[in-house]
Amino acid sequence: MPADIGMNAVLSAVLYVAGALCLSQAIFLRSDKHLSFWFHVLFFTSIIGGTIYYYYVERNLFYRIYIINLGIGLIFLATALQGRFLLRGSTGDKVLFWLVFGLGLHFFPRTIMTAEEVTTKSLVEFTVSPFWLVLQFTISVAGVAMGLGLLAVTFMDIISELRKERDTDPLTGLANRRLFTRHVEAMMRKGMQHKKAMSFAMIDVDYFKRYNDLYGHGAGDVALKKVARAISSSLPQPENMVARIGGEEFGLFFYDRTTEQTKPVLELIRKQIAALNIEHGGSPVSDILTISIGVAELHDDENFESLFRRADKSLYTSKATGRDQVTMA
Ligand code: GH3
Ligand code: MG
Ligand code: MG
Repeated sequence: MPADIGMNAVLSAVLYVAGALCLSQAIFLRSDKHLSFWFHVLFFTSIIGGTIYYYYVERNLFYRIYIINLGIGLIFLATALQGRFLLRGSTGDKVLFWLVFGLGLHFFPRTIMTAEEVTTKSLVEFTVSPFWLVLQFTISVAGVAMGLGLLAVTFMDIISELRKERDTDPLTGLANRRLFTRHVEAMMRKGMQHKKAMSFAMIDVDYFKRYNDLYGHGAGDVALKKVARAISSSLPQPENMVARIGGEEFGLFFYDRTTEQTKPVLELIRKQIAALNIEHGGSPVSDILTISIGVAELHDDENFESLFRRADKSLYTSKATGRDQVTMA
């Protein structure tokens, strides 16, 4: 269906090429990119045009086989070539790259061998030859492998998306308390082995309740985002980490630093928040938004809970003795 062989060949080619182009485009869309309009036009018109030409103008099965198979192979190889960025990505990205590259490559030996058989056998003989059946089987296996690969990559994407949601704070994009605790505990184990000094700082925005009352919750959210960005951009990562551990409270973990060594960074953060010039009409401390900081250094055999408590106590001292300052435990 349709009964006419020429129409059949063209229709099959259209479905075949459209399928390959959809797959290529989907791989790009997954990475928020897309293949150009001309990529599709070029491959579609040349493969379909060639199929029409070698049936209706000059009848040649041999050329039609070459055009459709090498064409599809080239679509996938061109996709892999343009998708080289996938090699620098996640495991899922790499899996997709090699799947599409392998799928593209497999059309070449396949096509060359098919064409050889077509020229030496009659068409009827060819379509029932073990060689042709093995080829059909091969493409089925390659197709299923590609399908299963896509499914596996989709699962990986979903899992990493869920993991990200679980670990990050949606307002500021910073790590949440859960991820922070996990990271800190891991770094503490590593640091203790290597006898590294480690410190923990807590930041709390001053008179933030009044800020909300004065300017509204929406403005409060915007201010929190700015504060979060200023804090995280001042701390080199990944060993150190910044997290939003409560409403307007942020935690900073310093690897390989004594409290004394954290002081310049913390003072810088304090000044940078003030330099944001976020107007604060309701604060008795300053007419711009300020923060208070408490910092403590990890003792031998101390756990995170106890370190946290001591930093919190220093923070309380900062609050009680004037705010907009850093206190060391
Ligand atoms: P202090 O200087 O003693 O820290 O005063 P404060 O008002 O900042 O302290 P308090 O802990 O009493 O208030 C924190 C306020 O932070 C309460 C809440 O309205 C606000 N807040 C917490 N989370 C959010 C948030 O996600 N968005 C906004 N807009 N406000 C928040
Ligand atoms: Mg607070
Ligand atoms: Mg506060």
